[in-house]
Amino acid sequence: MDAEDALDEAGPCGLSVCILASGSKGNAIYVSDGATSLLVDAGLSGIDIQRRMEWAGLCPERLSAIVVSHEHSDHIRGVGVLSRRYKLPVYISPDTLKAAGNQMGRLHDIRPFHIGRSFAINDLALHPFATSHDAQDPAGFTISRNGQKVGIATDLGVATGMVRQHLQDCTLLVLEANHDPDMLVNGPYPWPLKQRIKSRNGHLSNEDSGHLLAEIQHDGLCHVILAHLSETNNTPEKALDTVERALGGAARSFQIHVACQERCGSLLILK
Ligand SMILES: [Zn+2]
Ligand SMILES: [Zn+2]
Repeated sequence: MDAEDALDEAGPCGLSVCILASGSKGNAIYVSDGATSLLVDAGLSGIDIQRRMEWAGLCPERLSAIVVSHEHSDHIRGVGVLSRRYKLPVYISPDTLKAAGNQMGRLHDIRPFHIGRSFAINDLALHPFATSHDAQDPAGFTISRNGQKVGIATDLGVATGMVRQHLQDCTLLVLEANHDPDMLVNGPYPWPLKQRIKSRNGHLSNEDSGHLLAEIQHDGLCHVILAHLSETNNTPEKALDTVERALGGAARSFQIHVACQERCGSLLILK
């Protein structure tokens, strides 16, 4: 039985999430309620996303839509190909669409959304919220169904009050833990790039990610996936250790996973 048959047997109610890729070379997150399946970003090539879905036992033909967070190529590289190949509508903010220029080519169907305004894709309720990142109109998302809530916040320089507010009460969180500040400062990147990453419009450090998580953790949180790790300025062990330290030793309700650039993660099914 493949993963989607297992989901069918469970019935179209619990949300499931699979990180297909995460990092500066490409990002794609699969979210499904069994009946409606989305990709939040498609930043690998179309064929690579298709392959990773197949590895995970997921069927690209059963996708319902692609939702785009911002126009950086590590988030949109495969959007056009997948939209055309599988006739998928693409939910995207008008400013992001404009900023993407011709990077995506023709899209099968464009469904504009506006940051701060909720919208639905079948039974999935999405809320795009503003993030602090050097893109035209960058968004994080919450995706809710039947009391379960998935929060996605990668590509943010700082966790603003609004981000914290939106990420409260999540059942599953995908949270950026981009870099270890010492590795970044002492690493090989040119100084302007180091400054960009550290800035309010750059990427969230392991420390900041840990502090945010310590603040918003609650008993209903089941899974946290640390994501968009730098391959140059971070290691999965450092990200995990730093976040664990910020959380202290107290008992907790959730598991922490670390997303990876080179292979897809496991399919997490919320009960
Ligand atoms: Zn990115
Ligand atoms: Zn970005």
